Parts: sequence; structure tokens; C-alpha cells
Amino acid sequence: MRRECGQAEQALHEIQKRQQYLLSASPAIIFSLKPSGGPPGDYELTFISENVSTYLGYEAQEFFENSQFWREHVHPEDFQRIVAEFPCLSEQGYHTLEYRLLHKDGNYRWIYEKLRLVQDKASSSSEIIGSWLDITERKQIESALQESEQRYRLMFESSPHPMWVYDLRTLCFLAVNKTAVHCYGYSQEEFLAMSVRDILLYENISLLEESSFITESFSGSGRWRHQKKDGTPIDVEITSGPLTFSGRPARVVLINDITEHKRIERQLLHNAFHDALTALPNRVLFMNYLRKALERTKQCEDYQFAVFFLDLDRFKVINDSLGHLVGDELLLAVAYRLQQCLRPGDMVARLGGDEFTILLEYVKDLSCVNNVAERIHKQFSLPFLLGQREVHTSVSIGMVISVSGYEHPDDILRDADIAMYRAKSLGKGRSVIFSSQIDGYAVEQLSLEIELRQALQRGELRLHYQPIMDIATGRIAQIEALVRWEHPERGLLPPSEFISLAEDSELILPIGNWVLKEACHQMQEWQKLCHVGPALVVCVNLSMRQFQLPDLVEQVAHLLHETGLTPACLVLEITETTTMKDADATMRTLHQLKELGVKLAIDDFGTGYSSLNHLWRFPVDTLKIDRSFVNNLGREPGVEKIVHAVTAIAHALGMSVVAEGIETAEQLTNVRIAGADYGQGYYFLKPCHSNEMTKLIRLGALLQHEATELAGRSVDEVRQIREEIQYHVEHLLLKLSEFQRYIAPSTDFDCT
Ligand code: C2E
Ligand code: MG
Ligand code: MG
Repeated sequence: MRRECGQAEQALHEIQKRQQYLLSASPAIIFSLKPSGGPPGDYELTFISENVSTYLGYEAQEFFENSQFWREHVHPEDFQRIVAEFPCLSEQGYHTLEYRLLHKDGNYRWIYEKLRLVQDKASSSSEIIGSWLDITERKQIESALQESEQRYRLMFESSPHPMWVYDLRTLCFLAVNKTAVHCYGYSQEEFLAMSVRDILLYENISLLEESSFITESFSGSGRWRHQKKDGTPIDVEITSGPLTFSGRPARVVLINDITEHKRIERQLLHNAFHDALTALPNRVLFMNYLRKALERTKQCEDYQFAVFFLDLDRFKVINDSLGHLVGDELLLAVAYRLQQCLRPGDMVARLGGDEFTILLEYVKDLSCVNNVAERIHKQFSLPFLLGQREVHTSVSIGMVISVSGYEHPDDILRDADIAMYRAKSLGKGRSVIFSSQIDGYAVEQLSLEIELRQALQRGELRLHYQPIMDIATGRIAQIEALVRWEHPERGLLPPSEFISLAEDSELILPIGNWVLKEACHQMQEWQKLCHVGPALVVCVNLSMRQFQLPDLVEQVAHLLHETGLTPACLVLEITETTTMKDADATMRTLHQLKELGVKLAIDDFGTGYSSLNHLWRFPVDTLKIDRSFVNNLGREPGVEKIVHAVTAIAHALGMSVVAEGIETAEQLTNVRIAGADYGQGYYFLKPCHSNEMTKLIRLGALLQHEATELAGRSVDEVRQIREEIQYHVEHLLLKLSEFQRYIAPSTDFDCT
């Protein structure tokens, strides 16, 4: 019996030891409570496992020494809650609580408490068995998660960018923020009833199905086109990543509205290929199309195309005299008119300035091409109405047809350009189809430029002189110096053959300088030899390039000084168009020239679009009415009124008036009636060599100084001269053309 008892004790001891091990190894602190015998619900601790020291730092003993130990170590904030929540324990199931207990190290630990009432029916006593589990780490994770959830929610809700979450399987929206609602125009409810497909622009829907945006793992960005509720398309860049939303695989999307950015991008792209003023395709785009057309000719035998190179006639005059704004308006109107002349598939481009090109595709034959050219010319025969003003301009067209076996688009354009120049040289408003003979013309122009350069050095330039007559007295009042080129093979070339070439190549500057020097020198000679005095002046034409030279005034002063000519004996002629280039600069230069003492004339008046407002303020001495008016005097009643009015205003402002291009006695009568002071034209004399001019001046001088000059001559000579002079004086005008016959080489005057 003692032995059995001993064995039972041994077994109990073993069980207790194992229990002890189990309790120490348990992650939970185990305890038991029993009613304290005091007020109901008041319990006293009967057991607490040793491992309490591992989790809370206290020895189990400490709990027993102070019956309020637990109460004093519960977090004060949690205590009230625990009391309120403390369950009415029953044997059915466990009751749980979560609260903080103070660790011995001074920090609170989160405890998960699980309790159960155990009734001992035999002794009718009850006990509470409970456990504490340290859940501090879990609580920390939970709180971190909560914080991050809050942060995410805040970010999502207050993001300045639209954001949403959609279900990866159904593509339905699960959440959208306020910015998305504001931006897309759908309410929150409408959004949540829609799928991503509903806001994609039609062409983007199929792209979505193929994209990685519907795969679960994808995280990245992309560009899409969405549509707002009102149908407005919106370009977006979206950044997205996968997430789980209420347990479902979903995608969160942040949207960046790049509509403006895309618009600028598109604009830049458009600008790179289009002309800013007319919005027509530019050279780059035109050449691309031309390249493609050329390739097509190689693939398809029947395919032919044509290229037009167009250049506006007189655009420079319009632009310089009416200003750039009117010039721009004209270019816009031209662009519109050209488009009206073409079929829908044809292309018109602006290369720059007043140069346009046209690509006609699928042309059947030459007549199609000619028809288009004719249509364009017809359109250009009508005036352009720019504001209140009617502006006339024609266009010169060079044409190339693709049959000529071209390899490079540049060659086609070059030949069209050459043909256009040919058209211009034939007169304005024409079209020419390129052929190899024209190519020869371009080469000819180039070699002419080289020759002109040499002409200066070789001394092949000449000056011819044309008198400008005083209509009232028949006296030679002025002499205009007009340049010619004595070409070794082609003979005497008029300025129309080389002046514009010289202007384009800047050769006009040395040529102009030579003319000025030669003319001053010649005038100085005449003054010396023919005793004409300062009443006779020489007129020199200045080109626009010369007039714009910053040191023009110094150059003129230098030449006057070098030749010794009195400044008042030099008239500088500038065209109306030149004066309009820059009215302020013109005014300055004209004043400086006036200060120098030279006289100034406006040449070819009536051919440009000058602003009378400026013109009348310029310090000009003479107005030269263009030949075209003189020609029409007596024919068109309107012209007569214009010339009358212009003459009257010029006189009122102290200017004298020269009528240019008088060819007949009738025209002379007309300009006299119109009030012109001076006349110039073939009726009096064509421009002639300086020797002939010398004779005429001499003759004029003889008339003036009759007594002294005729003294040494034979009686017959004097009588003959007098008779001739008398004849012309009787007709009121010295008709010098008649004098040409009179001054035969045999009767040469000796001026020395
Ligand atoms: P412009 O200054 O108006 O000179 C008058 C032009 O009209 C001259 O032509 C002259 O021969 C022509 N002419 C004169 N009377 C008549 C007439 O009754 N009927 C016709 N049909 N024509 C007449 P040209 O010499 O051929 O000169 C043409 C233009 O070339 C000049 O017009 C002038 O603008 C320019 N030019 C001539 N020499 C020079 C020069 O040295 N420098 C510059 N920059 N230009 C010059
Ligand atoms: Mg002139
Ligand atoms: Mg003129």
C-alpha cells in the first residue's frame, strides 16, 4: 500500500512536471480565478503560469502578493472598456478581450485574453480558466496597416489627379476619387455602374484587351485616349499597379491629363510639316509626297504626276509698299485660291516667301496639266480684295511632268523652278513646261552673271543719256544717266537684261557706284566744256539695295568730292517702291542726302503702292510720273484726272513734275495740259551716247549765249544754226529728235 501510494505520488509528480514544462513552453500565460467571496463578479487569482515573467517581466509571485496587481497594471484607457465589456461568463464557449497590460520594463503590451467558466458540479464551485497571449506585434502590424490604409485613402481622395480602382476580371470600377468625378463628368454612382471600357475612346477598346493593363502582375504606365461624359476626348497618361480590393484582384490607376501636352505635341508636329502663315504643307512635307509619287511611277506604269512651281509676280512691290501685313493677307488669299483650283487629292504647298508648289497626281495627259495652269491664271486675273483695297497680282508657273525619268525629287523641283524663271522672263502671268532647252536658259543666266561680274572689270558698262526737257521753255533741264552693257557677243544690252540679275547677286552695288561716279564725272565735264552752269543737272537711278546701304550718304559725299561736282547738280532717282520699304529709314536717308545738297526724285510714280501720307512728307524735289500714265492720257478719262490731281498736289508741296515716256506730240500736249513741268521721252530724244549729248548741250548753250558763242563762226554757220533754233523756238519746244538729224557727223561741234 505504501509502495502503491509512492507510485501514485511519483506519477502525479511526473504529470505536474510535464504540465510545468508545457506551461513554460506555451506562448500563452495561463491563469485561473475563483470568486473572491466578496461582491459578485469579484475574483481572486488562484493560479498563474510561471511564463508570465517571460512575457510580462513579473514573477508569478508578485500577482499573489498584491490582490490589485492586475487592476493596477491594466492601461487606464482600457480598464473602463473592459469593465463595460466584461462578459457574464458562462460555460458555453470562450470569452475574449483585448487590452493593454503594463510590462515590467514600463511599456504596455497588448494582451489577448480568453476566459471560460468551469463549474465543478460535485463541489458546486466555479472557476475561471483563462489565458493571456501577447499580441503586441500583431496589434502594431494592424495599426500600421490601418495607418497606411488611411494614408492611401487620403491620397486617393485628395489626389489632384483622377484616380480609380477597377476589378481586373470585370473591368468594373470599384472606387473613384472626386477629381475623377470632376474631370470626367460622371457622378460617383454612375462611375461605379460602369467599366473601364465605357470611358475609353472607341479605337482604344481593342487595345485594352490586348494590353498588359488587364494582367494581374502588371505595374507600369501607358498613354490612352479617354472620353468624358459629354463626349470630349481626353489624352491621358496612366500609372497603375495591382492591388487586392475587398479580396478581389484589382488595379489602381492614377491619371495624368496630358491633353494640352498632346495638343502642343501635335501642334509641333504640324508646324514641322506646315507653313505657319497659310497652314499649307511646307517644303519638307511636299518633298515627302513628291518622293512617294516618284516611287509610285516606278511601280505603276500608267501613273503620272506633275509638279508646278509658282511665284507671284510683283509680290515684292506689294509687300514693300503696302507692308507685310497686307503681304501676308495676300499670301493667305493666294493659298485659298490655289486650293480652289485643284482636285481634292492634289496638294498645294508653300515653299516660303511668295513661292508655292503643286503636286498633281494621276494626270492623264498634258492637256490636264495645261487646264489646271489655265484655271490658276484665270483665278489670278481677278483682283484680290484685301481689306478695302483691291490688289492685282499674276503668277508665273513652271511645270514638270513625271515622264522625264527623274530619280530624285530635288531634280523635279529644280526643273520646275527653272521653268518658272523662264515663264517670268517671258512676261508676267505665264506658265512654261520644263524642257531641256529651258535648262539651257538657266545655265545661260548663270553664265550671264559671271560675265556681268567680269564686265565691270573689263569696262564693258556704258552710260547713255536722255534729256529731260523744260516744257515751258524747251530747254534741256536735266539729263538722266541710263546704264548699258556693251556685251562682246550680244551687243549693247539694255538694263532690263541685267539689272535684276545684278540686284539678285548684289552686283548692283559696284555697278551702281560706277554709274554714280561716271555720271558725276560726265556732268562735271559738261559743265566745264559747254559752259552750261549749274542750271543743268544729271539724274542717276539708285536701286533699292543701294539706297539701303548704311553708308550711302558718305559714298555720295565722297564721289561728289572726288569729281568736284556741285551737289545741287546731282538728282538721285529712287522708285516709289524703294521709299516704302521702311518709311522711317527712308525719311532719315532722304534728309541726310538733302543736307548734302543733292536733289531727289521719285521715279516711276504710280507703279507702286505708296502711301501718299509718307510720300508727301519726304523731302523730294521732283515726281516722275510713270510712262504708263502718259500713255493713257487722252485715252482714259480717269488717268487725266489722276495726273491733274497728282501734279496739283506736287506743286502745292513745292515739287516739280516730270512726265516720263512722251512719244508723240499729242502726249506732249496732254502732259502740258495736265500741268507737268518737264517731259522725257522718245519724242524728244532716245537715250544716246555722251558724245551726242555733248553736242546737244552745246547747242543749248549756244542758244543761251548766242552773242558770245556765235561770234567766231562763219556767217553761213550762224545763219543755219539760228534758223534751226528759231524753227524749234517757234514751235515752243526744242524738239531734239529733229536735232539728231541736224547734228550729222560732218557738222560736228567742237566743244573744246
Ligand atoms: P527709268 O529710270 O524710268 O528710265 C527711263 C526708262 O524709260 C529708260 O529705259 C528709257 O530708255 C525709257 N524711255 C524713255 N523715254 C521713253 C519713251 O518715250 N518710250 C519708251 N518706251 N521708253 C522710254 P532704260 O534705259 O531701258 O532703263 C530702264 C530702267 O532701268 C530705268 O527706268 C531704271 O529703272 C533702270 N536703270 C537704268 N539705268 C540704271 C542704273 O544705272 N542704275 C539702276 N539702279 N537702274 C537703272
Ligand atoms: Mg529713272
Ligand atoms: Mg522711270
